[in-house]
Amino acid sequence: MLETPLQSILVTLAGPVFGSFAATLAHRIAAGGSPWSGRSRCAACGHVLGVRDLIPIASWLVLGGRCRYCRSAIGRFEPAVEALALAIAIMAVARFGGGQVWLAAGLGWALLALAAADARAMVLPDPITLPLALAGFAATAWLAPERLASHALAAGGAFALFLAIRLGYRRFRGREGLGLGDAKLMAAAGAWLGPEPLATVVLAAALAALAVTGLRQWREQRIDLAAPIPFGAYLAPAIWLVWIADPGGMF
Ligand SMILES: [Zn+2]
Repeated sequence: MLETPLQSILVTLAGPVFGSFAATLAHRIAAGGSPWSGRSRCAACGHVLGVRDLIPIASWLVLGGRCRYCRSAIGRFEPAVEALALAIAIMAVARFGGGQVWLAAGLGWALLALAAADARAMVLPDPITLPLALAGFAATAWLAPERLASHALAAGGAFALFLAIRLGYRRFRGREGLGLGDAKLMAAAGAWLGPEPLATVVLAAALAALAVTGLRQWREQRIDLAAPIPFGAYLAPAIWLVWIADPGGMF
């Protein structure tokens, strides 16, 4: 095990790097390209970005939120995701010790990547949700093997429930309500948290989604009850906050 101060520094430095990766992934999925390969380019002028353009948070601040080459404004999405990843690292370091710091931060970063992809592109990519569910079982088997069966039941039950809601919604409203990705994310939530906190997660996410969507529509002066909501972007932070408050009986 690493010495705690060194580990704290490593986790804190890794945060913005993972945040940058999560934001880039979300961008590329939204743009319809391959999310996993290719060089980063300015969205406006297409100039390939170098290392000094891609330092998380710092580049954005130094360049005043503008492209070095064409001076067009870069959105706040990327630095916001990087700052959130840093906040996740700091909270993990403050709350946990030893290997649990990496577990807490890793879970937070994976959920942040999902939230970013859902907010940007309304997609929860399988290459993140499915490994996240497996990681939940691995973490439970490592830290609280006696809870493995109940976590497996929670994962299966949550997936089946969300699938049923999705099918019911499609049948009665004639359009997609919940995505399949939401069901997979809930399976991951069950694997990490066990059955007890799942109702809290869904309730908190639904209230947050309602509040944010209501506020936005009120500000924009348009009420649209059929507007699509990236529900995974609300489930993800709820899962992480509930997990760090009480890590599924693991510790
Ligand atoms: Zn540019």
